[in-house]
Amino acid sequence: MTGSPSRRDVLMTVAGAATALMPMPALAQNAPGRVVVVGGGFAGATCARTLKRLDPRIAVTLVEANQIFTACPFSNEVIAGLRDIKAQQFDYKKIADDKVAVSFEPATAVDPQARTVTLSGGTRLPYDRLVLAPGVDLRWDSVPGYTEAAAERMPHAWKAGAQTLLLRRQLEAMPDGGLVIIAAPANPYRCPPGPYERASLVAYYLKTRKPKSKLIILDAKDAFSKQRLFQNAWKELYPDLIEWVSLSSGGKVTAVDAGSMTVMTDFTKYTPAVANIVPAQKAGRIADLAGVADRTGWCPVEPLSFESTLHPNIHVIGDACIAGAMPKAGFAANAQAKVCAAAIVRLMGGQKPDEPRLINTCYTTVAPGYGITVAAVYRPVNGQLVEVQGSGGTSPVEAPKATREQEAKLADGWFNTMTGEIFG
Ligand SMILES: Cc1cc2nc3c(=O)[nH]c(=O)nc-3n(C[C@H](O)[C@H](O)[C@H](O)COP(=O)(O)OP(=O)(O)OC[C@H]3O[C@@H](n4cnc5c(N)ncnc54)[C@H](O)[C@@H]3O)c2cc1C
Repeated sequence: MTGSPSRRDVLMTVAGAATALMPMPALAQNAPGRVVVVGGGFAGATCARTLKRLDPRIAVTLVEANQIFTACPFSNEVIAGLRDIKAQQFDYKKIADDKVAVSFEPATAVDPQARTVTLSGGTRLPYDRLVLAPGVDLRWDSVPGYTEAAAERMPHAWKAGAQTLLLRRQLEAMPDGGLVIIAAPANPYRCPPGPYERASLVAYYLKTRKPKSKLIILDAKDAFSKQRLFQNAWKELYPDLIEWVSLSSGGKVTAVDAGSMTVMTDFTKYTPAVANIVPAQKAGRIADLAGVADRTGWCPVEPLSFESTLHPNIHVIGDACIAGAMPKAGFAANAQAKVCAAAIVRLMGGQKPDEPRLINTCYTTVAPGYGITVAAVYRPVNGQLVEVQGSGGTSPVEAPKATREQEAKLADGWFNTMTGEIFG
């Protein structure tokens, strides 16, 4: 990012488009207090920085478990050998330069009554308002046989980093003619088009390097994001290479055995060379410990401010929250973070939050130079975020090569602008 954006700019610009549209909050006359943000990913890092920019008097502490953030968007390109993992990694120096106190320790407990967050080393941080943005945890009980140990043989690669590289190495090591399985979970989960983007890019790798191989997507659902666009692209780019098995055709994985490298469904037992199992997910554990996750494992929030409906003064943003029709995406997390920050400034000043409009766009790369997109605008209606009618849509089903190339460039531009805005 070059220079400091003005307060007016701060909620507005990403990739040349707004992610959240709302009036700027008026600043309160007296010092507003302390905000602790847990989780320094797309949602949390955006929120911490936005709060400080909107009102520098707020004492903002960002609590993050890792000194380096490894981004998931574009990690499928790392898996396909099209990108270096270093292009996914960001530090927190610029955020600290903005006078956000950054603490590299996992948060291990929250006391909503005393309004404190406890860190793993025992430090207690008092807050007036707490923002939880811990992303997702994997549900290890969702696929029988799939454990943390099994994930070392059958990577999920749904949190970017070591798992991403493990899956990459396994693809490199597999023989030409081998079978790759990608198991996709039921909704809701992080990044709805993600498994299909991954299948596309792994297919690209196989087509260009191991053309006798095959890829089967075993799905726990009957429909998926941008389905027509994906399936048309697969027909065009990867004929006979990708097979998608829907839930009703027996696609749900019923068990795995990492020892014998077997993946079971109701009808078939597969022995793939590479098994990428993406299990069901839930809000990151600290949300549960804070008492803001409900029985679904996700966190219900009030959509004007992202304040938990279970505990006052705790806000939940990003993948961890239930954001109505908004998908769990980095773009959405960034938009929610800005709305949440603006609402906190107003609430601390004794005002009501404004009614926001939030934007999400999910860019997907199907092959180098071939992109497809889905976008929508959301607004609160009766306590839920709903899609504004006629606001969005997908890339055209029939489109010339130049359109797909343009969308791939837009995807690139989005990632660079977004990560520049958050970490740069
Ligand atoms: C393969 C793949 C591809 C994707 N592609 C796209 C894409 O193209 N576009 C898009 O918009 N989205 C994409 N996504 C989704 C995107 O990555 C997530 O939606 C986004 O990261 C959510 O942001 P978040 O801040 O909620 O969580 P994260 O970005 O995961 O951040 C959570 C942070 O919280 C920290 N944390 C968790 N618990 C604690 C704790 N107790 N104490 C301290 N720190 C803690 C973690 O270390 C982490 O840094 C993709 C995801 C995957 C898996």
